[in-house]
Amino acid sequence: MSTVELLVAGGLVLGFVQLVAGVAIGLWIGRGRTGSLDALQAQSLASDLQRITQSLNSSVREHAAEVGAIDTRLRAEQTAGAPLTELVVGVVGELLAANQKLGRELVAAENELQQQAIELDQHLQASLTDALTGLPNRRALEDHLASRQEAWRKHHTPFSVMMIDVDHFKRFNDTYGHQAGDQALRVVAKALRSTLRRHDVVARYGGEEFALLLPYTNINDALAAARKAIRAVSECLVEWEGKQIPVTASGGLATILPRESATTLVDRADQALYGAKKAGRNRGHFHTGTAIEPISGEPKPATGVEETESLPEQPKTDSLELSKPPISSDLFAACNELQSKLHELTAH
Ligand code: GH3
Ligand code: MG
Ligand code: MG
Repeated sequence: MSTVELLVAGGLVLGFVQLVAGVAIGLWIGRGRTGSLDALQAQSLASDLQRITQSLNSSVREHAAEVGAIDTRLRAEQTAGAPLTELVVGVVGELLAANQKLGRELVAAENELQQQAIELDQHLQASLTDALTGLPNRRALEDHLASRQEAWRKHHTPFSVMMIDVDHFKRFNDTYGHQAGDQALRVVAKALRSTLRRHDVVARYGGEEFALLLPYTNINDALAAARKAIRAVSECLVEWEGKQIPVTASGGLATILPRESATTLVDRADQALYGAKKAGRNRGHFHTGTAIEPISGEPKPATGVEETESLPEQPKTDSLELSKPPISSDLFAACNELQSKLHELTAH
């Protein structure tokens, strides 16, 4: 490799590393706007990325200086008439050493960058997850609601929301203790998650309240899902100190209406939930758009929402699997590309 080629290769690598750091910071800023990271976490991650980029900058500058010095010596010794073989062997050895040093530094920096990507991903994941149940939290639900509302506005893709509230939960805590209450919430979360389809979002809305977001689901399909959800909770037994304690929940369902916002939809589902509580609990009600009705055994006629596209049935999952934010795949792809560039460079 000639001096010029080395300098060009070094510059290319530097540019690429800066690009990766830029991608990471850009993705972080993008997520930050949705409030997914707290300010301190974001600040520390950003300064880590900045530090890596700065250290790479100085490695490449150092390398360029070393190559420049070799070049100057080569010219000087040529002018002084040094023996050609000795000169070439010496210069090639020095170039090789400088190249290997830069290669090692870049590989170390790339590893550090990948570690940063993993940490960034973990922070994002934690900020969207409820620690007690492992379900998506309210913040994550709001992101899903926003994207469903957009699909409804643009493509008329329907969706439904069901709010579920554990019955007499204060009494449960008072009778069996707060730890038993926590265990009950885990059991209910697991039952709901394993009852619903994979692409349905099951979130912990707060306290003893859960929210189901059913994409591609019109009122008839949503009624069937709502029946299954209420039944699944009523079949739960919370094992605590040798006892098996039953638990029930009430639910309120609503399907998106033309020109309706996700906020109003959740409000209507809440009103339906209130109706179910008033009617005696351990049951579901749904909001038709104009009235609140009990969810009976029979499917109800659709309320102004036409059936459009539907997803193929997907296998149920027992695990509390969470959908990953797209950041890691982008960042890992960038890091992998960086790695192959480095391999290309160090192979020469
Ligand atoms: P209703 O059937 O009308 O919903 O009655 P309720 O007792 O469930 O409702 P209320 O709002 O009176 O009480 C909710 C209780 O849920 C009170 C609160 O301490 C408890 N709770 C909220 N979050 C948690 C939690 O994370 N763990 C435990 N153990 N209890 C919780
Ligand atoms: Mg409640
Ligand atoms: Mg309750």
